[in-house]
Amino acid sequence: MVRHVYIHVPFCARRCAYCDFSIAVRRVVPVDEYVGALTREMDLRFPNAAAWKVDTLYFGGGTPSRLGGAGVAKMLEQLRQRIALTPDAEVTLETNPEDVDAESVARWRDAGINRLSLGSQSFDDRVLSWMHRSHDTSAIERAVEVVRTAGIDNISLDLIFALPEGVERSWEHDVTRALALEPSHLSLYGLTIEPHTPMGRWKGRGELNESPDDRYESEFLHAHDALTSAGFDHYEVSNFGRDGKRSRHNSAYWTGVPYAGLGPSAHEFDGGTRRWNVGPYAEWVARLSRQTDPIESSEALTESNRIAESVYLGLRTRDGLRVTDAEKERIARWIDAGWATYVEPDRIVLTPLGWLRLDALAADLTLVRSHY
Ligand code: SF4
Repeated sequence: MVRHVYIHVPFCARRCAYCDFSIAVRRVVPVDEYVGALTREMDLRFPNAAAWKVDTLYFGGGTPSRLGGAGVAKMLEQLRQRIALTPDAEVTLETNPEDVDAESVARWRDAGINRLSLGSQSFDDRVLSWMHRSHDTSAIERAVEVVRTAGIDNISLDLIFALPEGVERSWEHDVTRALALEPSHLSLYGLTIEPHTPMGRWKGRGELNESPDDRYESEFLHAHDALTSAGFDHYEVSNFGRDGKRSRHNSAYWTGVPYAGLGPSAHEFDGGTRRWNVGPYAEWVARLSRQTDPIESSEALTESNRIAESVYLGLRTRDGLRVTDAEKERIARWIDAGWATYVEPDRIVLTPLGWLRLDALAADLTLVRSHY
């Protein structure tokens, strides 16, 4: 039974300089074409979806808010004809500040959106312009006010840290400005420069370098200290929630439960196999107009994949990972180094210092676990 659904809405006004997501840049968003293809995908791939009781529904992108007030309402109306949402379902819309106005937010709220994830990234207009974001700081503040006035108070802000050497930015100032808006949730991502992005090309021309490790570390640790002091729970390596406001949708990914994914490039997992759709928007639409499955490929998890994944997922959250006696000798070194603590006799949680080494520690434990 599917309880978690991800819908990818690929439209963006333009490409941000760091972005390598599957997007479709459109000045005018083809709302009817998109919603038509989405409902065809639902009917083609999930004819028995009426039996689902969906606990989390997440519209990600791209920029789902580009569908506008009426577009989001139409999409939800079509989905509700095919799936049932639980009475307290978490329904999240990723939103860019420039798409937020009182009329659109009212439509989103009335359609059932009860959580907004607002792409903020920085509170420094020079940095926003350098990233090719299509909003400024005042638009973020205005958006939060409009959303809250409309009665949606579950608001998450995204910020990017660890900018390249030479890019001036006060991370402390950005964290303070974000806190002043009193969001219920924050997601913080260290910038990675992917090759096929504008920033990747700037790097290729020698115009910028990745953030030095010490900048990454000091900004990550500053965020941990500032946000936990302000009452946030640092419940996953990149995520902070206040008053129990964890992202229930993302938490489902981290516990390895099944979820369905629809839309171009969307991924899904049925508990044993991952599948993902074709990425380009036009190809996804074309396949569905021919009533052809838009799945591009799939991968069944092997036993070694399963071990690696369960270790990685466990270590990235504050719920932690159950460890065996055979692993405790290795873990003792992590405890001595301040990278992990025991929260139960057989369960460890990484500390912020440990999260800075998440990949290496997960690989280390996976190796141990794969040999017995
Ligand atoms: S708005 Fe988001 S998805 Fe769109 S280009 Fe920018 S980072 Fe990528």
